[in-house]
Amino acid sequence: MVDKVLMHPRPWILTGAGISTESGIPDFRSADGLWEKVDPIENFSTWALYNNPEGFYTHGIPLFKQVLEANPNLGHIILGELQTKRFFGPIITQNVDSLHQKGGAKWVYEIHGHLRTATCISCHKTVVTLDELFKLVEDKEIPPKCQCGGILKPDVILFGDTMPEDFQDAIRLIRSYRTTDNMIITIGSSLTVSPINTFPSEFDSLAIINKSVTILDRDAEIIIKGSAGAIMQKIRARLVELNNGEELVSLPAGFLPGRLTTIILDLWESFLTKKKTFNRGEQLNKIMADLLLVEKLFLNYPRMDKRSGIEKYMINSNLIKLQKIKNEMIEMRGNAKNTNGYMPRSINDIINSHYKALIIYTRQYNSEPEIVKELVLQIVGFIGLYKHMEILDMQEFENSFVDELYDKILKITNKYELDIDMVKALDNY
Ligand code: NAD
Repeated sequence: MVDKVLMHPRPWILTGAGISTESGIPDFRSADGLWEKVDPIENFSTWALYNNPEGFYTHGIPLFKQVLEANPNLGHIILGELQTKRFFGPIITQNVDSLHQKGGAKWVYEIHGHLRTATCISCHKTVVTLDELFKLVEDKEIPPKCQCGGILKPDVILFGDTMPEDFQDAIRLIRSYRTTDNMIITIGSSLTVSPINTFPSEFDSLAIINKSVTILDRDAEIIIKGSAGAIMQKIRARLVELNNGEELVSLPAGFLPGRLTTIILDLWESFLTKKKTFNRGEQLNKIMADLLLVEKLFLNYPRMDKRSGIEKYMINSNLIKLQKIKNEMIEMRGNAKNTNGYMPRSINDIINSHYKALIIYTRQYNSEPEIVKELVLQIVGFIGLYKHMEILDMQEFENSFVDELYDKILKITNKYELDIDMVKALDNY
């Protein structure tokens, strides 16, 4: 799992109720889960809210209180840390408990809403805290109402509700940088709830961490059975081990050695499978040119003496992977002639897709300046890497493209009044 995570920088995470059972919140479908005791449609649907408000609030309030009082467990805390340190990407959660945010995660899509507030379903203007809602229910106002007469409903998605904006936002973002972030890890979800269980099909690679079987086990590349907290601790421990036993620090924003190797691997695998393509010799030369360029980068990575153990490990292990492909290529055709490869174009695509993601993110209703800043740092870091590779190599890189992009990004940093040292950011790869 750790090897995969390091090859696909910043995999997305999808979590379900199972990650929060260790915080004392029951899930729905385990043997002793909530559905064993309460009928969901009778009590937790929009139908129930209108037709059986007593049932909704009698069963709901103790559960809501339990959720609000819970504390993040090690699973949430490690996910938060690894997201902040750039090992993981955004978290999509089905949970309504806010425990990812309480555990330190900054970038979370809550596709089943949350229990921080309740809103009037009629005027949509009145928003109260859950404590205020509890007070109304305690005063026997069932269902609790807004002054306009509309029912106050916790901001969670019930059976029968449509999906919230977070759902569409997450899908749009995933699709915008399909060329880069192509791994998802699901944690503590039976993956039975639709449309959430369609998320994994948006990615090339799926890994599952869960106590019991899930609907998508057959599609997963990696399955780890067990409890989320313990497995996250093992993943973290392995990362620390690769960091020579030292505490983890953030990876540089534009650091993506695994991704560069994956580009070569994909090209090579596709070359090997499509045996009847025209111009195979020329194609082989191009892939070799790319491989030599990336190898040159890894051999001349700047500031190696100052890099963390895990960065050095990632560069060296990728070098070994490249060496293996190189040997296979030489065996097939000897050394390549001088030619231009696909690499500059591939990095263009990565940078472009991240820029697209930045634009999409800034249009989100709840966009956070902190995440905008992170996305800017990543793109500027990639631009720095691109320029560094150009200096290392003789072939033509399309420089006007990155210069134009850089100017557009400056406009965004000004608009958001982001405090970014752009010179330093360009060097952060
Ligand atoms: P689910 O109940 O369908 O599945 C939970 C899965 O997690 C099960 O397969 C179970 O084996 C596994 N699991 C339980 N404890 C685990 C642990 N410690 N480590 C690893 N795996 C563990 O949950 P779901 O797929 O999230 O669907 C339930 C729906 O109900 C969600 O969509 C969510 O909106 C809602 N829900 C939310 C909460 C919450 O906010 N904490 C709690 C219950 C239900």
